[in-house]
Amino acid sequence: MSTQQPEDTEPEEQLDSALVTARRQLERAATHIDVDDGVIERLKHPTRVEQVSVPLERDDGSVEVFTGYRAQHDDVRGPYKGGLRYHPEVNADECTGLSMWMTWKCAVMDLPFGGGKGGISVDPKSLSNDEKERLTRRFAEELRYVIGPTTDVPAPDMGTDAQTMAWFMDAYSMQQGETIPGVVTGKPPVIGGSYGREEAPGRSTAIIAREAVDYYEKELEDVTVAVQGFGSVGANAARLLESWGADVVAVSDVNGAIYDPDGLDIESIPTHEEEPEAVLEQDAPETLSNEEILELDVDVLIPAAIGNVITADNADDIAADVVIEGANGPTTFAADTILEERGVPVVPDILANAGGVTVSYFEWLQDINRRKWSLEEVNEELESKMLDAWNDVRTEVEEKDLSWRDAAYVVALSRIAEAKATRGLWP
Ligand code: GLU
Repeated sequence: MSTQQPEDTEPEEQLDSALVTARRQLERAATHIDVDDGVIERLKHPTRVEQVSVPLERDDGSVEVFTGYRAQHDDVRGPYKGGLRYHPEVNADECTGLSMWMTWKCAVMDLPFGGGKGGISVDPKSLSNDEKERLTRRFAEELRYVIGPTTDVPAPDMGTDAQTMAWFMDAYSMQQGETIPGVVTGKPPVIGGSYGREEAPGRSTAIIAREAVDYYEKELEDVTVAVQGFGSVGANAARLLESWGADVVAVSDVNGAIYDPDGLDIESIPTHEEEPEAVLEQDAPETLSNEEILELDVDVLIPAAIGNVITADNADDIAADVVIEGANGPTTFAADTILEERGVPVVPDILANAGGVTVSYFEWLQDINRRKWSLEEVNEELESKMLDAWNDVRTEVEEKDLSWRDAAYVVALSRIAEAKATRGLWP
């Protein structure tokens, strides 16, 4: 039987899993560098994906069992590193794909870490605070055998935060019989967290946006910016870009967007953490949908909410001059190709939002050394790491005439391949 589409129907893009996208991006990047096929083959597969059952006693006394995961992709450059996500769509493939992105992210930033990602398939909004605490503590107990400060170091991600990491670290430490702050990052500063960690992915997104604006020969004071998502990435990026002189004309949360062509007063809009879902309650001349904000004719578009929002269906309608990926995986593989053909540069997530894991690395160092850095120290080091990574990627863009994504992958893959070749395959 033919599986061909009738000619007159436009097949809608099937949204690929993070794993399929991550593998395709890897294959594509591999065509740009001279790297051993065996290394690429090894990198297509995670070291392991741990699946656990996480039973929870609900507040009403009933018991529900959730499924949790920890994907450990590659640790050739150091311990697995990456977030824990509480979201209904968490599954083994998604965690694996996201853990691959963490491997590239850590390598492009030249951090001594590999890639991991995990989470629980649960809607965090359906949990009371007490339930979330019990679920997290039990999850830490179930993962205890595969994580640790020198083996695999989780962090916050969608649906989890500093408090979640505090419970996780406490449960792990209680079981191990000693306080081990370095088992997770993204903790509150009072128990070994780093100043500036929460703002870091937004700060790095803003730094990369600023560098991209400069690269394309514009002044920050003259550019307009639209930011989809007003959580820790979007809100912090928007606030910083505004404070550096850009006009942030539109922001959105899960309910929709506000738009003012003359620029919004970003400082006055509460972030999702300060007051959830408050964007539409702000005064603004126009409101837009979350689809429309992506199509605004702005200089810089920052998708900073969820994955797969720029697809083959809307890639032709993206009117921004440059896209900076604040979220993980906001552009599908097909959309990426369309944007490249249209000459719209997309600066990838593994570079733009890498401030999160970079300050996680600083936090891990602070925990090991038992010495706290000041906020100024953290931000200075972050700025310098981001500029180094930006320059490494820019060099590949210029020398090999690559897209920003391919260039970032080339930087990451070269480092990983070299580490694999140097260590060898054993036995
Ligand atoms: N979840 C964040 C990310 O996707 C941070 C991971 C980390 O700090 O380890 O980059």
